Amino acid sequence: MVRVTVLGSGSKGNCTVVSTGRTRIALDAGFSAREIVKRMRLRGEEPEKLNAILITHEHQDHVQGLSVLARRWNVPVYATEATHAAWREWITPRTRMSFSAWLELRRQQAAESLQPAAAEESDCAVAPVQDDASIGIPALAAAAQEPPASDAVSLSSPSDDPAYLPCVEHFQAGIPFEIGDIRVTPFTIPHDAADPVGFVLQAEGMRIVVATDLGYLAPNVRMHLQRADLLVIESNHDVEMLRDGPYPWVVKQRVLSRVGHLSNDALGEYLASEYDGGARYVILAHISESNNLPELARSSAERALDGRMGLLGNKVLLASQHEPLESIQL
Ligand SMILES: [Zn+2]
Ligand SMILES: [Zn+2]
Repeated sequence: MVRVTVLGSGSKGNCTVVSTGRTRIALDAGFSAREIVKRMRLRGEEPEKLNAILITHEHQDHVQGLSVLARRWNVPVYATEATHAAWREWITPRTRMSFSAWLELRRQQAAESLQPAAAEESDCAVAPVQDDASIGIPALAAAAQEPPASDAVSLSSPSDDPAYLPCVEHFQAGIPFEIGDIRVTPFTIPHDAADPVGFVLQAEGMRIVVATDLGYLAPNVRMHLQRADLLVIESNHDVEMLRDGPYPWVVKQRVLSRVGHLSNDALGEYLASEYDGGARYVILAHISESNNLPELARSSAERALDGRMGLLGNKVLLASQHEPLESIQL
């Protein structure tokens, strides 16, 4: 049996847990670690049994709780190299230091490096347990504001490095890999991030496809959506609401672009035509709270599916930003 629990989805956070009897993985960690743990427990999923966290891309609503969750429960993180690098960049505070502050820092680091029993360098060393509170801005942030401008300063101690993760595995889009008894196939999606991906997860004969944050349904995406038993797919905005809505023009352009987000209409068009109709569940995800209404997303998808005579299943569910869906068992 495979269990799929969408803990939440939207521009304020995304996380879905997929588990078999042996393996438990989180797709994205876009809420605070505390919130993810709370929602997991609410649905009977144990965070201490997480085997992996898979990251789709480095936007905040997909990585907010990543470092704390990974460190707290010592969970390996899987991401593409470019996504990992972009995340490191995002999470590492930028600071401008005076030359004298920089010299002092180097002096301290040199002194520390002479100390015995330095922290192990291995990527997958056991991590110190961390709380939310300990992942703050490093003391460096207090440095003065004069040139020379320094880029992110790399700190030597894992506990001081906000980008430290106990274990990182890099994957490439298009190349499948296994985590326990779950086979993962990442695939490229069109979105304005470093190297964004969707995932196909296969376990116990079931095929689960997760594709959110995509500007349009590119041919390779359509290919991976085929034969899904459960589909988590973006239905981000109603085009009219977005056009008339509160976002600044440049943001509207971004959302509407081919590296933005998928509209109700674009999804409906796909469901009404090319979609093979085989999924037991279609979960509408990343529904905008500003530019969409749950009922618009639902009616658009159901109308598209209703036109398809003879489809079995295809129960339409709406992922919410604020509470987890009931777990689905396949
Ligand atoms: Zn997102
Ligand atoms: Zn995104």
